[in-house]
Amino acid sequence: MSIRVKILGSNSAAPAHKRHQTSQLLFIEGQMYLMDCGEGTQLLLKRYHVKIQRIDNIFISHLHGDHYLGVMGLLSTMHLTGRKKSLNLYAPAGLAEIITLQLKHSETIFNFDINFVAVDPTVNKVVHEDDFVSVSSIPLNHRIPCGGFLFSEKPKKRRINKEMLPAEFSVRNIIKLKNGEDILDQEGKVLYKNEALTFPPKRIYKYAFCSDTKYDESIIPIIAGVDLLYHETTFLEEHMDRAANTYHSTAKEAATIAKKANVGKLLMGHFSIRYKDLEPLRQEAQTIFPNSELAIEGEDFILDDIQ
Ligand SMILES: [Zn+2]
Ligand SMILES: [Zn+2]
Repeated sequence: MSIRVKILGSNSAAPAHKRHQTSQLLFIEGQMYLMDCGEGTQLLLKRYHVKIQRIDNIFISHLHGDHYLGVMGLLSTMHLTGRKKSLNLYAPAGLAEIITLQLKHSETIFNFDINFVAVDPTVNKVVHEDDFVSVSSIPLNHRIPCGGFLFSEKPKKRRINKEMLPAEFSVRNIIKLKNGEDILDQEGKVLYKNEALTFPPKRIYKYAFCSDTKYDESIIPIIAGVDLLYHETTFLEEHMDRAANTYHSTAKEAATIAKKANVGKLLMGHFSIRYKDLEPLRQEAQTIFPNSELAIEGEDFILDDIQ
């Protein structure tokens, strides 16, 4: 599986209607990436049987409580349940100060290191890279500094065609095949053409997470063509004044961004507590961008060639 987005929380402001504040867990090639961590996130991770010690990277978009108040609880549980492995925390600079202050007054020293990376949410630049993915910040337009995150998969290796593979093929040769090389004999003649024993690599997917923002077309060049765009849809168009005043977006506005950016699918979330029924939000978005779906808690959104 290439990318799986698990929705943990999709509400704005406060818990309501059995919905929780923003948090999503991304799975890429077996790695987990936590995006935003509203209050109660660790309980939701438990509900969905996620092993929290396997989370090595946490990304926080901004320092409104509905996006980060769960961080301290989650880190504390990691500490109390024996974590030793270091953890990368990507967030606006103020979060390091908040965590340090809490640790100071509880006279606690975590048993693991936090590699804190201060993200400047006003610029679009790479903040994290590993073997599988590159993550860059997306400047958003919110009441306080706020940055989304663009996850771009790295190029993948060719896939072995097991049925065609000769018996007793060495691991070294399999690695060569995955890297696109032919298998040569000692004189340098081709023994096996790569294409005869492999399938092309799986395609690369991109996921953009745009947490809190008012309508702002300046993000379009950054998110253009992504396979899945999460863009907040806090309000219906009938509450557009409220959206503008609070630096949030309506469903129609998010759908307009999705359409202009030519994305594959729009994932809607950060729902206002004033809406118990989310269906009108979905319908409003779909009038502009038909492939719009609600980020319902517990659901998975999968990007893969083979589903
Ligand atoms: Zn929010
Ligand atoms: Zn906010």
